[in-house]
Amino acid sequence: MADLDGATVLVAGLGVSGVAAARVLLDRGARVLLTDAAERPVVAELSAAGATWLGGLDAVPGDTDLVVTSPGWRPDSPLLVDAARRGIEVVGEPELAWRLRVAGPDGRPAPWLAVTGTNGKTTTVTMLEAVLQAAGLRAVAAGNVGRPLVEVVTARDPDGRPSFDAIAVELSSFQLHWSSSLAPAAAAVLNVADDHTDWHGSFAAYRDAKARILERAPVAVADAGDPVASSLVAAHPHPVTVTLGEPGAGQLGVRGGVLVDRAFAADPAGEALLERDRLQVPGPHNVVNALVAAALARAAGVDAEAVGRGLAGFRGGAHRNVRVASTGGVDWVDDSKATNPHAAGASLSAYPRVVWIAGGLLKGADVDPLVAAVAPRLTGAVLLGRDRAQIAASLARHAPTVPVVEVPSGDDGGVDGTGVTAEATMAQVVAAAARLAGPGDTVLLAPAAASMDVFRDYAHRGDAFAAAVRALAPGRP
Ligand code: ADP
Repeated sequence: MADLDGATVLVAGLGVSGVAAARVLLDRGARVLLTDAAERPVVAELSAAGATWLGGLDAVPGDTDLVVTSPGWRPDSPLLVDAARRGIEVVGEPELAWRLRVAGPDGRPAPWLAVTGTNGKTTTVTMLEAVLQAAGLRAVAAGNVGRPLVEVVTARDPDGRPSFDAIAVELSSFQLHWSSSLAPAAAAVLNVADDHTDWHGSFAAYRDAKARILERAPVAVADAGDPVASSLVAAHPHPVTVTLGEPGAGQLGVRGGVLVDRAFAADPAGEALLERDRLQVPGPHNVVNALVAAALARAAGVDAEAVGRGLAGFRGGAHRNVRVASTGGVDWVDDSKATNPHAAGASLSAYPRVVWIAGGLLKGADVDPLVAAVAPRLTGAVLLGRDRAQIAASLARHAPTVPVVEVPSGDDGGVDGTGVTAEATMAQVVAAAARLAGPGDTVLLAPAAASMDVFRDYAHRGDAFAAAVRALAPGRP
């Protein structure tokens, strides 16, 4: 339903996007019902604005026209099962945003350039935002990153114009699962690796959710190096792939150290975008991200010069391959955001000799292929967190001569049992890494695992790492 004036909409889950959805719905004259497992402080404010708080619910109220669900809620949660059984439409916040976009003076809403994938989404959409801004567009990164989409698509300047000309949209598989009509001007699937099968039920369901981003997009982009992502775009009428090698026709790639576009360039030989060395973010994976961001921008008509300028100015995001210190010939790099083996594999391939800090919650992922692949780069490993024994076993199999230090933590009783803090655990980890590292080595925090066994989140883990490194070498940035 496009016209929500007077409609009854149940907002299920009051996280950042749920709250933003409720506010916009109230603004559009909908009757807004709210449910969540617990009453959050924001409920008072939304109630004062006219919403009705219903507490926890297992069934959808009878007069509901639409349910807007939080990405955290699994499709098999009782409320969503009830909605499905009764034929009540369930959407995510991005789908709602798509339906609520406001048009500019030309009658058209700002185009969406959309990115999904297991890893690299945030980096790619923030690169894309930088490129679009370099082209002089009022652009913003939104969705699974940054601001909620409902807020961005309805934002207006004081003169009534929509606030944005183009939107770099990050979409998770959860959000795509609950999207049915959104049609980006161009869309990319970066990669599809094993993750979140607990939510989706199977790898095939996870992959199919990601593929939805391409369904109504006139241009479909993927990393040619990722077999699943490239097979998804192969079936599309206008596939564009990116490669770290010489680009073929219809590709973006790297020729003689220069990023080149052969998909959107007028010259069939291609058009140069930027020297690879001018990218300020390390590793082959970030070249892929840059090429995908470039492809989406080029699909939207951005010229090659602006693409190059935007990419050259991009400095990377927090906890994503950030060098926090260099001491005694050793670089210390925080890639706490490498929360699954696929991400850690990309990260490790950015450095030739690595003392690897890994471990945490593997979420059922198999770490053995990663360890086998990265073993030749390792000069040492320091393991922490609940699932560290699995990584230790893989290291013993594939890298038997590499020294490995295990630091007890988390549910060993470390953090909450004996009063040992997360920070103290990380200090031990860093001290062990310092003993293993020699000149020319990179000590890389790329845990291949989630952080919540020991830390609040990946940012807390990365901050604890940086603080411990600084304490080790005070005054040496
Ligand atoms: P997402 O938003 O998908 O979680 P991020 O851009 O935040 O992705 O990157 C998360 C981590 O994934 C990075 O810290 C890095 O370790 C890894 N990564 C980034 N880009 C890629 C890529 N193209 N392929 C594989 N891994 C990547």
